[in-house]
Amino acid sequence: MSQPELYDLAIIGGGPGGLSAAIYAMRAALKTVLIEKGVPGGQLNLSDTVENYPGFENISGSELSMKFAQHARVYGIEELNDEATVIEPGLEFHTVRTAGGQVIQTHSVILAPGGRPRELNIPGEDEYYGKGVSYCAVCDGFFFRGKNVVVVGGGDSACEEGLYLAKLAAKVYLVHRRDALRASMILQKRVEAECKMEVLWNTVITEIKADNDGVNAVTLQDTRTGGQRDLPIDGVFIFIGFDPNNQLVPAGIRMSPEGFVITNDQCATNIDGIYVVGDLRERYARQIVLAAADGCMAALSAAHYVETRKAKMEDLTCALPE
Ligand code: NAP
Repeated sequence: MSQPELYDLAIIGGGPGGLSAAIYAMRAALKTVLIEKGVPGGQLNLSDTVENYPGFENISGSELSMKFAQHARVYGIEELNDEATVIEPGLEFHTVRTAGGQVIQTHSVILAPGGRPRELNIPGEDEYYGKGVSYCAVCDGFFFRGKNVVVVGGGDSACEEGLYLAKLAAKVYLVHRRDALRASMILQKRVEAECKMEVLWNTVITEIKADNDGVNAVTLQDTRTGGQRDLPIDGVFIFIGFDPNNQLVPAGIRMSPEGFVITNDQCATNIDGIYVVGDLRERYARQIVLAAADGCMAALSAAHYVETRKAKMEDLTCALPE
């Protein structure tokens, strides 16, 4: 049986981190494969407007994704539209297996799988998903034109998505469990100034109710008094953070208690040749520009690692007796 091809680098995930890594890896002449199960861009595709990526005052997430992907394609990046299912670290090389049955042997791996929206885990949330419950204002906001919606959360996402929904909906209630928002001051000020938005402080949702037409109410609970009341509503948008996609992280890699991977400043994990970039990486903030910067750093570091490794292997081969 012939040996599978040996790559210099396998990048898993085609979001900003993975695509930026692809650009830098190709420019460093690494034999690279980019594995992505969906469309390039990942979670970025869900962003309506990106206003803080340098060089773009205002661009949609999907357009920015396409620009990243097109840029990587200029260098002829090899793309595999498949789902990576296992990473097996090895001494000689690492192995990546895919759902489609591919076995990829590679000197180095950059993991860029991102994360997924966190759920409230309350009655009605799963049942009415797609019938009034949503985790994406850009995808579903259009269906709530002129209607009343609640947004759950007090971070940047909840505020940003709430402001987006305020452009379409008649009324947006921002339901937050504490008495202060976590979001950046600029977003807090915009929420305050948006007359269609009302913050319901110290409040949680305990149940989402619906009839045959979809969601029609939520049960609110005051976190200080425990008092409950129903609020008639047409839609519920949940933005309470997200969980990293860490299922592929091989055993032995150091992680935080929250499930983010701990890396050094070169995005290297504690296993040689395995790097983590973007939202899966333990860090202070999660931003597109940071994921892209991670991709650059990890690819440059991987290039150095692969070159050093190959040089050592050549030295060993030369040292062998004839
Ligand atoms: P986040 O900052 O972690 O905020 C999550 C919010 O949801 C918090 O207000 C939290 O309340 C609340 N929450 C969590 N679990 C809850 C529960 N079970 N029930 C009710 N409320 C709950 O998450 P994020 O807003 O998604 O932002 C994630 C990261 O992306 C952040 O670093 C953020 O700065 C960044 N981001 C940046 C931008 C931007 O700059 N344009 C846009 C989006 C996101 P507590 O406050 O009480 O903990």
